[in-house]
Amino acid sequence: MAARRLLSRSLLSSLRTPTIYTAPALRMPAPLSKSATQTAVRRLTATAQHLKPAAAAAVQVDYPMTHEKISNPPNTKWFVDNQFVESKTSQWIDLHDPATNNLVTRVPQSTDAELKAAVDSAEKAFPAWRATSLLHRQQIMFKFVALIRQHWDRLAASITLEQGKTFADAKGDVLRGLQVAETACGITTQLTGEVLEVSKDMETRSYREPLGIVAAICPFNFPAMIPLWCLPVATITGNCIILKPSERDPGASMILAELAKEAGFPDGVINIVHGSAKTVDFIIDEPRIKAISFVGSDKAGQYIYTRGSEKGKRVQANLGAKNHAAIMPDANRNHTINSIVGAAFGAAGQRCMALSTLVMVGETKEWLPEIAKRAAQLNVNGGFEEGADLGPVISPQAREKIEALVQSGVDEGATLLLDGRGHKPAKYPNGNFVGPTILADVTTEMKCYQEEIFGPVLVCLNVETLEDAIELINKNKYGNGVAVFTQSGATAGRFQKDIEAGQVGINVPIPVPLATSFSFTGNKASIAGNANYFYGRHGLQFYTQLKTVTSHWRAEDAVATRAKTEMPTHH
Ligand code: NAD
Repeated sequence: MAARRLLSRSLLSSLRTPTIYTAPALRMPAPLSKSATQTAVRRLTATAQHLKPAAAAAVQVDYPMTHEKISNPPNTKWFVDNQFVESKTSQWIDLHDPATNNLVTRVPQSTDAELKAAVDSAEKAFPAWRATSLLHRQQIMFKFVALIRQHWDRLAASITLEQGKTFADAKGDVLRGLQVAETACGITTQLTGEVLEVSKDMETRSYREPLGIVAAICPFNFPAMIPLWCLPVATITGNCIILKPSERDPGASMILAELAKEAGFPDGVINIVHGSAKTVDFIIDEPRIKAISFVGSDKAGQYIYTRGSEKGKRVQANLGAKNHAAIMPDANRNHTINSIVGAAFGAAGQRCMALSTLVMVGETKEWLPEIAKRAAQLNVNGGFEEGADLGPVISPQAREKIEALVQSGVDEGATLLLDGRGHKPAKYPNGNFVGPTILADVTTEMKCYQEEIFGPVLVCLNVETLEDAIELINKNKYGNGVAVFTQSGATAGRFQKDIEAGQVGINVPIPVPLATSFSFTGNKASIAGNANYFYGRHGLQFYTQLKTVTSHWRAEDAVATRAKTEMPTHH
């Protein structure tokens, strides 16, 4: 009961109105212990010796580590001028814990005045931020990175509570975003231009300059990673950003805003607005916003790409997927099966790179019972529970859609090898759970093959040869990721060359490139329009525009430093 009171008062406020935390530290949080997961709250104690020696007072931030019901859940605020502000809206979006369907918070549909105020704030901040030296921005990014590491568990806890994924997986969500911020710290060598002497005494130099105000519209499935695909790259290059997290799980973004403020981002460089389609339309229509980063479903993405481009904005848009793996008979059976089970069902299949579709070549279809056996052993539970392998899906509507697609497969003649529909963990009877589900003997005309299911469902098709597998996969409209499992270098080489999807794994089930220098390179219908990839070199290019300066400094115009005494001999 005491823990419950604590949850209602301070824990949720630490997710949404983060006022308790005042001083950053560089210390890594201790790994989560068993006893910690069994406690209602986790308390992060921070000392500030590294960054603020004079103000080295211990500070504490509480955050939830259970799915307990929260009495009087506070509203999510919006973030403008480095302040967390209560919205004046009359439209609220209820956000429920997917494991229980208990109310966690109410998210505002930002009002017209709030949306405009966010852009006004960014517009005011831009001239000074653009003029800030790269080294200074880099220092802020160093601190931001340190703070994210320090608050890693807290960010992950917010994700587990609002999005549902397991705490361990939520930590990975944070890490993959953090790596983008860490890479952004190397900006001093990434933003250099080119110079060439193009004629006598004439040279052309190129510079990368910020666009101005940019916006990011994020999906629900990676509440930390995708905001962090955008925010570090956009800001270190001198832009101001308006971030719209998913209305279904904005908590991690709000913590990131708090940490960004603490790291030293000036007022207005990062503002956060909330809501759904209305906010998106505002972002598209507002002429002061020069570029839009979008990650989400096909429908919203095509709309935003088309309308945003019509308005003359630069748009990067990553959309849906159907990621295939070709399983060759010579593959390492144990490694392949474990890879498939982890990549198909991890995060309850709610990853754009989830391995949702198997193409069983030749006799590998005989491996399916073993795949089903290992999938059935996964622990489907609340994300804070010790040993949980996958949590619930995001909403009751998502669960219904997933289950309907499974049924459509059955109705169209697929074999239901493992049925996770109706799964209810004992402790969470009201959650949106779907257990691992496997449909075998699927064919390409079936709806369960053609549509992105975005749940813990694996569809399996049979072919005879490598060539058949490549042809089948290339006919699919999506091109986010693909994998091949084989022990043969020649087979892998052939697959790698002939396959069309943009991110290829060879014995790697989820081949998302690290942000170190690579970009996220989905293709075909998994990305709208131009190859405006997220993060890496392409991310830097997206958030900057090139300027070339050609200058002519005639050598003969140099001011002479030595007087001439002889009479001139030329005319
Ligand atoms: P979604 O399209 O429902 O929502 C994404 C964003 O768009 C949200 O901020 C939402 O508020 C907004 N939005 C939703 N409907 C809208 C509409 N009609 N008009 C304007 N804006 C709208 O996507 P989601 O369900 O949050 O995310 C899951 C989808 O994202 C899946 O399809 C997944 O494959 C995709 N995804 C793709 C990648 C990638 O890199 N390719 C990464 C993560 C997720």
